[in-house]
Amino acid sequence: MKGGLDAVRDADAVVIGAGAAGLSVALGLDGRRVDLLAKGPLGRTGNSPWAQGGVAAAVGPGDSPESHAADTLAVAGELADPAAVGRMTAEGPRRLAQLLALGARFDRGAAGGLDLAREAAHSRARILHARDATGAEVVRTLGRALGARSGLAVFERAVALDLVVAGGRAVGVLARHGDGALVLHRARAVVLATGGLGRVFSRTTNPPEATGDGLALAWRAGARLADLEFVQFHPTALDVGADPMPLLTEALRGAGATLVTAEGRRVLADAFPEGELLPRDVVARALWSALASGRRPFLDARATVGDSFPERFPTAFAACREHGLDPRRDPIPVAPAAHYHMGGVDVDLDGRTSVPGLWAAGEVACSGVHGANRLASNSLLEALVFGARVAGSVAGALPCLHRPPGAPAPPPVDARADVDCAAAVAGIRRLMWEKAGLVRTGAGLREAHARLDTLSAGLPAGTEAAHLATVARLVVTAALARTESRGAHFRADHPRTDPAWRRRILLAPGAGAPRIETRSAGAPPALEAYA
Ligand SMILES: Cc1cc2nc3c(=O)[nH]c(=O)nc-3n(C[C@H](O)[C@H](O)[C@H](O)COP(=O)(O)OP(=O)(O)OC[C@H]3O[C@@H](n4cnc5c(N)ncnc54)[C@H](O)[C@@H]3O)c2cc1C
Repeated sequence: MKGGLDAVRDADAVVIGAGAAGLSVALGLDGRRVDLLAKGPLGRTGNSPWAQGGVAAAVGPGDSPESHAADTLAVAGELADPAAVGRMTAEGPRRLAQLLALGARFDRGAAGGLDLAREAAHSRARILHARDATGAEVVRTLGRALGARSGLAVFERAVALDLVVAGGRAVGVLARHGDGALVLHRARAVVLATGGLGRVFSRTTNPPEATGDGLALAWRAGARLADLEFVQFHPTALDVGADPMPLLTEALRGAGATLVTAEGRRVLADAFPEGELLPRDVVARALWSALASGRRPFLDARATVGDSFPERFPTAFAACREHGLDPRRDPIPVAPAAHYHMGGVDVDLDGRTSVPGLWAAGEVACSGVHGANRLASNSLLEALVFGARVAGSVAGALPCLHRPPGAPAPPPVDARADVDCAAAVAGIRRLMWEKAGLVRTGAGLREAHARLDTLSAGLPAGTEAAHLATVARLVVTAALARTESRGAHFRADHPRTDPAWRRRILLAPGAGAPRIETRSAGAPPALEAYA
């Protein structure tokens, strides 16, 4: 036992997170000594295994990365970075070819070619899918490929508590392993691939691991964060009191399912003649209004999907059956839920953060590809493409990243880490849903800010609860600063888009309160030299 530690390990790189992003990073670092940490068992932790609809890539006849990029930019509320979008859409087909070569079983048509689906706001059929369990197929494929890799040590049920920073550089991770051991993972490169923050809200499709830890870890290490106010709310989560709320994929509305009231009247028909295929944020806010006025919405797939439901949408069907519903016979109760975070740790095209030695990939990173709103099925793609790019960047930087002399001191761990934080966490999640959710106001956000201080007082540092509280406060700070509505961020007191706000909001750790900066959409982040 060293300084309260149970063990110290040395690796070239430590990767925190084993979803599509973390697995892609580890796969690209073949031959290096990599410690891979995840909160749960490989293939069953984080958002990736839950992804249903698919992964977008310009692989079909007549499609092109340019067309995919144009669609991505069109929904992004003028805040996406065209260079990042261009990289993602250009490199996407190569990443998908790699997955197929590794044995991914995406659905195929009768002639044997890939069965590409078309989703809302994509101008072409370009969604590869494995029925409605695409994410599980992606992580299964990556996990199996990793099994054969040398130099990799996987730590399941290992929770990163804090990053170790020495001389302004990230040099390791302090983690609590499943057996209770406190382990310092020293490394020349640290990669955050910790996924999203859905659990910050009481109504979410995200599993328990998605507490935004990576954002809090990066923040505590001094990294800049970007676009935190942009949280995508999915309109159709199954509303039966489950947590997480099972997702009912958009493809159901694509297949003709409609949103109706208990009396069978269309929810969207009056105000929105375009109907069910409107952008997610518009549909989600319409359902929010319906609920606020006492009209419970249902998704009615009886006439259009009907008896083919179990075959076409097995995941959604199983979720309905688990809660005693039969979507072939009954309309399904639905409600919006926090689903995806467009914001994250500010990174360049190679996933480098503003802290030397620290990279980020996947949902925890803000690569600039989503702007104010994400195009459906682009997030798995982002995790695959930028995960591979981060691996290349880390491999290239390792020769210049020298191990700091001596053992860096790990951050102190709060001895009260077993304090029961459940009530505080539940309070924070409810507050965030009510005051910083789909419809925000300045007054509500200020109230949230004040109440967060009270709710989070005394949460032991380094715990998931403390991370969640930190992230909640940062999201509220960014949402208060953006006095307009854009993409997924809607302010009822500033309902219009303001051209003067065509800038990204960055939060940097400052003395006391976060320092708020802005940057124009296409400008790259200013990073320190890594050598
Ligand atoms: C229900 C649902 C459906 C979706 N459908 C689609 C879809 O069809 N198409 C699409 O493109 N996207 C979809 N998404 C979004 C997509 O799944 C995610 O954006 C993407 O999988 C994120 O991958 P990731 O690797 O960045 O993070 P994740 O897959 O979330 O992985 C995060 C990893 O970090 C680990 N971790 C977190 N904190 C710590 C810590 N402190 N210490 C150690 N490990 C930690 C977790 O255990 C996990 O292994 C969906 C999301 C949900 C929830």
